[in-house]
Amino acid sequence: MDIFETHCHLNDDQLYGRIDEIIERARQAGVSKLLVVGWDYESSLKAIKIAEEYDFCYAAVGIHPENIYGVDEISLIDTLELSKHPKVVAIGEIGLDYHWTKEPEKRELQKQFFIKQIKYANEHNLPIIIHNREAFEDCLNILENNKPVASGTMHCYSGSVELLKNVLDLGLYIGLDGPVTFKNAKTPKEVADVVPLDRLLLETDCPYLTPHPFRGTLNEPVNIRLVLDEIAAIKGLSKKHIAEVTFDNACKLFRINK
Ligand SMILES: [Zn+2]
Repeated sequence: MDIFETHCHLNDDQLYGRIDEIIERARQAGVSKLLVVGWDYESSLKAIKIAEEYDFCYAAVGIHPENIYGVDEISLIDTLELSKHPKVVAIGEIGLDYHWTKEPEKRELQKQFFIKQIKYANEHNLPIIIHNREAFEDCLNILENNKPVASGTMHCYSGSVELLKNVLDLGLYIGLDGPVTFKNAKTPKEVADVVPLDRLLLETDCPYLTPHPFRGTLNEPVNIRLVLDEIAAIKGLSKKHIAEVTFDNACKLFRINK
């Protein structure tokens, strides 16, 4: 079985030091392609380093909404220009995070960075990886006014079934990860049930969002199997089929040869 892990942070210090064994474990479990996602300049550069070292790894570069503060225009452009590297397949992760940010001026700044990064992606015909936490209305507004021309993914989709339609109407993919396995996670399970198979991507967001039953430990790509198992059970389809379709979806979105 081939699985495409579309959102991991092997560039995170918690994983980077043990990257060989972590990748080996993932490969043993059938993960044959991995997309390593940046959140600032340094982590984007590190994602590229990993993609240079392992031919089955790819990179995304961008500035996460929680990391925009203090970043000037030149640093932003420097980060986005890293996308010139041949192993960079997307701009991300970018978006809005209102969970920790309550101040209106800071939220405004997040919006500006999000729009600038979408515009850059559009000018360079690259898909985007969207981080959206508790900012659905603003996020959808921005996307509707700045349509991602090369599509993208709503990573770790956390919205309702009702909002799902808006995201699908924008032509975006839906990334599902650990929360779908949580025992009390009613909404992610409902979303997994109704999301069209041709728009679904599998991811872990490791080292975060460790799936059940390993919550409380550090997440890593091998755990994508638990996400796959749960989605297959919810949809009543075989794991092999879900793995195949989501693998093809990822290759299509990120324009990677199978
Ligand atoms: Zn992430």
